[in-house]
Parts: sequence; C-alpha cells; structure tokens
Amino acid sequence: MKRLWIYLSFILIITIVLPTILVKTFNIVSKEGDEKSKSRREKKVDNKTGDKFDGYIDVYDTRSQKTITIPLEDYVKGVVAAEMPAEFEIEALKAQAIAGRTYALQRTANFKDGHPDHPDAALCTGIHCQAYLSVDELEKLHSKKWVDKYWGKIEEAVNETVNEVIYFDGEIIEPLYHSTSGGKTEDSKDVFAIERPYLKSVPSPYEEDAPKFKSIITMTVDEFIQKVQGKYTGANITKDNVHEKIKLVERTDSGRIKKVMIDGTVVEGREIRELFELNSTNFKIILNPKSNIVEIETKGYGHGVGMSQWGANGLAKEGKDYKGILKHYYTGVEIKKYK
Ligand SMILES: [Zn+2]
Repeated sequence: MKRLWIYLSFILIITIVLPTILVKTFNIVSKEGDEKSKSRREKKVDNKTGDKFDGYIDVYDTRSQKTITIPLEDYVKGVVAAEMPAEFEIEALKAQAIAGRTYALQRTANFKDGHPDHPDAALCTGIHCQAYLSVDELEKLHSKKWVDKYWGKIEEAVNETVNEVIYFDGEIIEPLYHSTSGGKTEDSKDVFAIERPYLKSVPSPYEEDAPKFKSIITMTVDEFIQKVQGKYTGANITKDNVHEKIKLVERTDSGRIKKVMIDGTVVEGREIRELFELNSTNFKIILNPKSNIVEIETKGYGHGVGMSQWGANGLAKEGKDYKGILKHYYTGVEIKKYK
C-alpha cells in the first residue's frame, strides 16, 4: 500500500508539477529581443566573424520558438552555465567559454542564411547546437541561491577570456566537445567521417571523477537477442550461436567500437550505441550464457570528439590553465582574440 502511495504521488508530481515547470520555463520571451531581432536579421549579412561583426548574434530559442538577438558575450555566459557544471575549476570554465564562443562564431559564419533546422538563425538554444540558458531559466532550473553562488564565477570565466577564440591555420575552428571521453578522445574522422586536423585522438587522463566514466547495463541473453533481432530482422541468432553471430570487426584508434558484424552484416558501432542507449561507443559486450546474463560495459559519455569537459576539469585541477587545456584537446591550435 505504501508503494502504491509513493507511485501515486510520483504520478501526481509528473502530471501536475512538471507541466507547471515546463509552462513556466517555456514562457520566457523577451519582447525587446524580438523587436531587435527583426532589425538585426536585415543586417544578417554583416553578422559574421571579422571586422563587420557587430557583437550580436541571432539565436533560435527552442522554448519560445522565436529568434532572439543577444550580445555574443551574454550568450557565452548562458552556454557555460548550461553546458558545464558551475562547480568546475575556473580554468575549465574559461576553456568552456572559449569553446562556446568559438562554436557560436564558427556556426554564425557558416550558416549565414540560418541553419536548415532553424532557418532564422545559425544557432539554437538546444543541444542540437549548444545548450544555452538565460539567468531566469537558470534560476528556475536550479534556484536563486544557485544563481547567487555561481553566476559571478561564470561571468568571471567569460569576462577574463573576452573575445578569445580558437584558430587553426588562421581559421576559426569547429570546437566539438563532450562530457567524458573515458580515457582517450576520438578522431572526428572515425565518428563523423570528417577529417579535421585539430580533432585528433588524444589521451584524456584525470576523468575518474566523472559520474559517467564507466557504466554497466545488464539484461538476460534472451532480451539481448530479442533487441538485436528486432532491429536486424534478417539475423538468425539463438542462445547457442550468439557467440559466433556477433563479432567485433573494427575499433577506432582510441579503442571505441567502429564496426560490428551481426550474422554476416556489418553495422556501425553507433547503431549499437543507439539500440541499447549506451553512453558512448566505447563499450564491451560480455555474454554469459550459463548465467543467462549479458553485461554491456560503457566508458565515457558523448561522441568523444574534441574537448572532454570532465577531462578539462581534471587538467585544471592538475594545474593547467585554460589555454593549456584547449591546446591539449584541440591539436595544433592557437588561442587569440578575434577583435
Ligand atoms: Zn540548433
């Protein structure tokens, strides 16, 4: 009976409290920003990196579904707050600020006529691009206390690196980043099939504090087979042949799973990641038919390319400054002010 009550109150929380939170969070629309964005949009052609850049960027707000125009530096503060735990070392937050700013400028320059998924702006506030939260949203998500405690630190990280961005060979880079690499980052060519000289696989020590450094999911062999056959319907897998029917074909340089053979068909490691909702493609499948159990052990969280945020915090704790952190994760780059 007690369990039932717990269950019922949980359902109540979901049905009553959650929509209230969502409605509240989703209603923040800046009227001023809206009007500004119209006039800004006409100037979009100038809204790019270089001399003509006026310091404002257009961002499609996925919550209000409107495009807002905000100063780049304010946007970067909201990105740092949304993308990295504010408890992290200040040097890690500075590295995140520069990665966020660089990403915004690179994207704005590359999608001058808007992104196909949000045609009015090159960037959106969701994880589709990089997450951004306004101070109001942060207050609702965390608390007023949280904002009082951390906002100053976030502002410091952004202000102390003002206008600094990452260049490779004179060009602003696409600074991909992720939560946790699991010990080694990934080469962009192995994940996105795009070769980038600055997105190479590098060691990422000091990540052990990350909550998703390692995780294990468990299921029965039958459940495992059912799931695989549900997706790859032509595969003929049984408990007796599962050992031979699923084989590793290729690993990436960093050790992640690139290709797997399922009953004669080669599939991408990321398909298996999606199928079992794994944290990364750095996984190991341990089959034990005797106990009828399958364990999938995953290391890291995210695509693994570019800067590891937990690794950045680890390096900061070891005494590296933000430039050292960025140069560690982005091979051969320079950090300079764009104006
Ligand atoms: Zn987007």
